[in-house]
Amino acid sequence: MGLFDKREPCAICGGKVKGLFPHDVEGQLVCDSCFGVIDLPSDKANSLSMAQFLEYSAFRQENDKLRQKFSTTLKVDFGWLDDKVMFDHTNKLMCLDKHLNKTIFEGKHIRSFSIREDAYNLFEGSAAGLVCYASSVPDRVMALAPQINQMRMQEQMRRNTERMIDMLDGERNNNTSSYYPSMNIPEPFDKFVVDIHLDHPYWRIITLDMNGPRFSSSMPDVNDYMRDYNNNVATMQQLAQALMDLAFPGAPVQQMGGNMGAGMNMGNMYGAATMGAQTMNRSMPMGGQPMMGGMPVDAVAEVQRFKMLLDQGIITEAEFEAKKRQLLGL
Ligand SMILES: [Zn+2]
Repeated sequence: MGLFDKREPCAICGGKVKGLFPHDVEGQLVCDSCFGVIDLPSDKANSLSMAQFLEYSAFRQENDKLRQKFSTTLKVDFGWLDDKVMFDHTNKLMCLDKHLNKTIFEGKHIRSFSIREDAYNLFEGSAAGLVCYASSVPDRVMALAPQINQMRMQEQMRRNTERMIDMLDGERNNNTSSYYPSMNIPEPFDKFVVDIHLDHPYWRIITLDMNGPRFSSSMPDVNDYMRDYNNNVATMQQLAQALMDLAFPGAPVQQMGGNMGAGMNMGNMYGAATMGAQTMNRSMPMGGQPMMGGMPVDAVAEVQRFKMLLDQGIITEAEFEAKKRQLLGL
């Protein structure tokens, strides 16, 4: 005797409905596998009438035929784990599930799209072309650099002092030194938001988001942040280009110098160079030192300083190695 034996069977397939919180459509129970074909946002999926439910199920069944011919030409990794956007540029198809178990969209259904950093435009695409906006994030990170450098210096001194006290006390207790207070740096922005607007019988908009980079709270680092940020922007650029190739092939690309988002305008030292291939190669020197081959000139001197701290037993081998890799960009 199962717990759910007295339940009504699934209104669609007549099978057993399991689980503590079963799905229902207009008060009729529907099993997980029948409800699973509804890949609409959950608020919409949960408010369908039975007629709408059946109509959408039929649409999914018809749509599934596109899966037979889907041959992936590009996969854009979007954030965590299973979040992938699959493209088939040959057949002009797109799916937001790596197993192609969700609705397959056709390029002709895409009306326009935008990719933002919070409220600020990064890319806007339509039949008129792709507009690339210069982001103010690098400038805002740069503006935080002096504050971050000062915090790092103070923290490094605090750690060194703590280690020296430990040594003088003769009790090298690892626990004492492994306590790092967290340093709260205001994040330049929260997340990338992608809106794809559609002309589609059942879909008006697809919204995706991906968290922006985060400063390490134990040892925030402008270079680490910018490396992550540039990787993220490269992904967004790949997505924007893939959407253009899918929906508006051959449309022009336009670089905009300033950010069109309302409000904060920090001015832009880099202009259009903030976007595009240059973005990926950009590296931000700590405290604005001169750069040589993408590496701060005094990186080597910095490594030598840390080597001294290692030799004096103030930092560990592992800490030195990590620092060296970071400074030399290895
Ligand atoms: Zn069922």
